[in-house]
Amino acid sequence: MLLNCDPNDREGSMNLVEDLTMNANQVQQQILHEILTQNADTEYLKGFLSSGDHFLRELFKKKVPIVNYEDIKPHIERIANGEPSQIISAQPITELLTSSGTSGGQPKWMPSTAEELDRKTFLYNLLVPVMNQYVDGLDQGKGMYLLFIKPEIKTPSGLMARPVLTSYYKSSNFRNRPFNRFNVYTSPDETILCPDNKQSMYCQLLCGLIQRDEVLRVGAVFASALLRAIKFMEDHWQELCSNIRTGHVSEWITESSCRNAVLDILRQPNPELADLIEFECKEKSWEEIIKRVWPRTKYIDVIVTGSMAQYIPTLDFYSGGLPLVSTMYASSECYFGINLNPLSEPSSVSYTLLPNMAYFEFLPVNKNQEEEVEGVVPPNLNSAEMNCSKKEDKEAGEEKGEAVDLIQVKPGHYYELIVTTFTGLYRYRVGDILMVTGFHNNAPQFRFVHRQNVVLSIDTDKTNEEDLLRAVTEAKQLLDPLGFLLTEYTSYADTSSIPGHYVLFWELKARRMRRGDLDEQLPEVMEECCSTVEESLDSVYRRCRSKDKSIGPLEIRVVRHGGFDALMDFCVSQGSSVNQYKTPRCVKSGEAIKILDSRVMGRFMSNRTPSWEPYRMGSSKN
Ligand code: AMP
Repeated sequence: MLLNCDPNDREGSMNLVEDLTMNANQVQQQILHEILTQNADTEYLKGFLSSGDHFLRELFKKKVPIVNYEDIKPHIERIANGEPSQIISAQPITELLTSSGTSGGQPKWMPSTAEELDRKTFLYNLLVPVMNQYVDGLDQGKGMYLLFIKPEIKTPSGLMARPVLTSYYKSSNFRNRPFNRFNVYTSPDETILCPDNKQSMYCQLLCGLIQRDEVLRVGAVFASALLRAIKFMEDHWQELCSNIRTGHVSEWITESSCRNAVLDILRQPNPELADLIEFECKEKSWEEIIKRVWPRTKYIDVIVTGSMAQYIPTLDFYSGGLPLVSTMYASSECYFGINLNPLSEPSSVSYTLLPNMAYFEFLPVNKNQEEEVEGVVPPNLNSAEMNCSKKEDKEAGEEKGEAVDLIQVKPGHYYELIVTTFTGLYRYRVGDILMVTGFHNNAPQFRFVHRQNVVLSIDTDKTNEEDLLRAVTEAKQLLDPLGFLLTEYTSYADTSSIPGHYVLFWELKARRMRRGDLDEQLPEVMEECCSTVEESLDSVYRRCRSKDKSIGPLEIRVVRHGGFDALMDFCVSQGSSVNQYKTPRCVKSGEAIKILDSRVMGRFMSNRTPSWEPYRMGSSKN
């Protein structure tokens, strides 16, 4: 079922949404039927189902196991090495999408097909009519969207492996999109497709500034990217204004197609415009800068749910409180759904999963534990704990922790999302925890709660407890020669400056009485510890830090003896059990961070960027 949506046809598009959500169950049945019949001859499905089984949802659920990436990785690697797509998919796998979730330190590879690009286009096209229901006149100007591509590699079989958005922006679906007057960008495609991120950013901002009078909305995919753009503008506004004043583009913009595209827009010197922008940027405070520089902006289009919620206060500051709109929920595995009420407050955003995108199932997870995860101190559940809590759920259909269907989920309940896609993923655990907030017709709506296990995230990085432990274990060895032991650690994502950075709190103990000169060596060793932690984190972290520059240098703050006891006292005062208390490996509440910060004896920063290069198969470290 591949649907078309004409973004110019508001009524037709919204009727389609009504049909899909009204008939959510039937659409889901049909989708599963299509996926299974299409892929009946794949090696993977043949391993579980016999010929008649493909028609029965119950048999599919009984016989095909719920899997995670480690389970399917061998199949995907075989395809990357040149074996036929038929292992998992009847349709040819045309590329592998590198997810920001990692496995063994490397991005996970999600299979994709040519047809899947059309499914993505369908979802993108729906966003326009949905928005038009709430905001008038979007055809009277342009959107300033800061969009970027990232590095890609070729697998041994010649398949491209790249992030999902890079794949989409490079596809003909994006490049040859039909004109839509509601969706005109200030950035020429050449600037988005420029492989040099710095030139791309500069040129997109320059184009956005030149066309400032036309800009009706400002956006990026994630909040972190928009804030990075504002920081970039803070650092480059004089040069940008000078280009506008003189009608020349800076010499360092050397990517020719990008340069020419900008010159096409910057046709002549415009000193009046340069003066206007300079006047605003010269102000001491950049409060409301978006409203001041682009005065017609109606809303900010960036995802601010999940880990991006940490950026809401900063975005409010720069935007002067313009509505923050999170339009969609998607991943490398599959695009899931859209926000049908885009002007809702960020804290109450719900996504409606579109039943034609994939076959969705939901593993119930324990409500109390999830609420705890969302709260002050997130104890990260391991899967054993999860399973145990699932068994305790007394609700019908959820007793055994069995995966339920889209229309069986219950308001207020928490679930882990499982997808069966058209691209060769069968009952695949995405790793996201969602909570049901209500229904649109018969289709449930979900609040994105969190990504399982992730303790730290600044941009697209997703560091989990094990990654952090591994990195800390590596780094703390450097303390041995000085006679120090690391007794406790925790962390938080500090986003008070742009770009944000990881902060680790460490409590140290001297093994023996120290000689005076050791303290002198400590700063140097601690800096080295910071760098070692960074080197040991996964490749997405290192790419963000070294290539995208979307994460700042990692910091370790050493706290006085007793700092972690104070943290424990605080957690217990908030309801943690003394007996079961485990030091949280990430602290989220401002109060907890304050307690540790007030006991800091020394702060140390990494003084070099970690190594990173695009993944090459067979290499153990990149
Ligand atoms: P990737 O596989 O790298 O494309 O990342 C996809 C993941 O990003 C999802 O599984 C979510 O964890 C997260 N994500 C995507 N869209 C949203 C959203 N609208 N709100 C919160 N998190 C999101």
